[in-house]
Amino acid sequence: MNDQTTPWHRKAAELTFDGRALIGGKRVDAIDGATFACISPVDGRRLADVARGNDKDIVAAVAAARAAFEDRRWAGMAPARRKRVLIRFAELLLEHRDELALTETLDMGKPIAASRATDVNAAANTLRWYGEAIDKVYDEIAPTADTSLALITREPVGVVGAIVPWNYPMLMASWKIAPALATGNSVVLKPSEKSPLTALRLGELALEAGLPEGVLNVVPGYGHEAGQALALHMDVDCIAFTGSTRVGKQIMQFAGQSNLKRAWTELGGKSPLIVCADVANLDRAVDAAIGSIFYNQGESCNAPSRLFVESSIKNEFLKRALAKVPEHAPGDPLDPQTAMGALVDDTQLQTVLRYIDAGVSEGAKLLAGGERARVDSGGFYVLPTIFDNVRNDMTIAREEIFGPVLSVLAFDDVAEAVRMANATSYGLQASVWTRDINKAHKVARALRAGTVHVNQYDEDDITVPFGGYKQSGNGRDKSLHALDKYTELKTTWIRLE
Ligand code: NAD
Repeated sequence: MNDQTTPWHRKAAELTFDGRALIGGKRVDAIDGATFACISPVDGRRLADVARGNDKDIVAAVAAARAAFEDRRWAGMAPARRKRVLIRFAELLLEHRDELALTETLDMGKPIAASRATDVNAAANTLRWYGEAIDKVYDEIAPTADTSLALITREPVGVVGAIVPWNYPMLMASWKIAPALATGNSVVLKPSEKSPLTALRLGELALEAGLPEGVLNVVPGYGHEAGQALALHMDVDCIAFTGSTRVGKQIMQFAGQSNLKRAWTELGGKSPLIVCADVANLDRAVDAAIGSIFYNQGESCNAPSRLFVESSIKNEFLKRALAKVPEHAPGDPLDPQTAMGALVDDTQLQTVLRYIDAGVSEGAKLLAGGERARVDSGGFYVLPTIFDNVRNDMTIAREEIFGPVLSVLAFDDVAEAVRMANATSYGLQASVWTRDINKAHKVARALRAGTVHVNQYDEDDITVPFGGYKQSGNGRDKSLHALDKYTELKTTWIRLE
């Protein structure tokens, strides 16, 4: 870092990264020796050369995971011991909070305040929660006749391939590996090529916590190389994928083309937030709408990118919303005061700028932003952007932009708002704001989404499932429901003489 103005810049200058894969408990170069450059979106600096894993490295990692699964070095360990390992793993994340937060910020561009306070905590909490669940979840005995006993048990599925995106690298990895490890599986984790560094550190910390070698392997690399090889591998029993709907469709095909591995997908979104004229607290609705679409630079699968406002309050809503926009101005991600950081890379920046151009050319009215920012930094920043007069058939209302771009649509009747809200191929999350309890329930029931919020947007908890309807995917992360993804249901009939 050139700028030495904050303690975080000094720490960043001292930080070094090991970009090698983690296979069978050892840090190793890619078998072919290939690497790719890991570039920081903060300032365009090269952070590390990272192992460019391909099918050969995936074969090695799956073999290590299979060996670890077959000799039951992890699955066969007493549940209370496995629990202690995962809880220690969680503690180690917190003990390395500054290093992990800084790595995450440098690698994907989010503000250090968010990485430090939210991402590290949430990832550690995920590991701890599933660790604690290990010796608290019981199996079942079916109510059969006296002549037999039928046990219904959950067994680990075996080798789990986890493929994760770049927007919450540590958290998305922990949503996969925590329930997969808690249920006794071995894992091969393929982080995004855009943000591989914290996943590699997680692998090391897991070993330090006492996870046996080979149980968690981390292979960085490109999606069409390492990712595809993992999804096609004949000895992977389950693929847990978080990413775009486009690649999610391929993952389902790879599962079908290979060994019909269980394929779980957590995909994109185009989530609606509906504000009715009878909203009890307009300021709170404004804060939620603006804060949620601009959080994490708009790079959140559940970002409320379509805002439906009842016509009679739209002008007032927009006046208050525009007054909030400066609070989300992009700044230096290493400054603890910064609320919005950098987009993950130049490709994503160009994608967002193309969508903004599409909004303008298709006739939406640009109210705020619409331009690149902080060009001199060498990083990839865009202004928080709001479009008014959007129609539901415009590109910016239909496609996931994955950037800080809000589309505002007006409605006169809540049934019309629900119809427009549901007129999307996605179904991840939705929200309705009203003081009328009947309307709230009816709209919540009518919205086709995995999560519906009433008079709030971003409440979440590890105890509550997260996932989508329609093309937002078929899986649920978080909560005890996630354990179903990583286990086979076995019934054992015992004859009683
Ligand atoms: P992406 O689909 O491009 O990549 C996701 C992962 O898949 C990466 O690790 C990538 O290397 C890998 N990949 C790419 N092509 C592959 C292939 N052919 N075979 C196997 N693996 C392949 O998505 P992204 O740009 O990294 O992430 C953004 C997307 O993730 C958005 O659509 C966002 O909504 C979604 N997302 C969803 C959730 C959720 O829980 N539903 C959470 C976070 C992000």
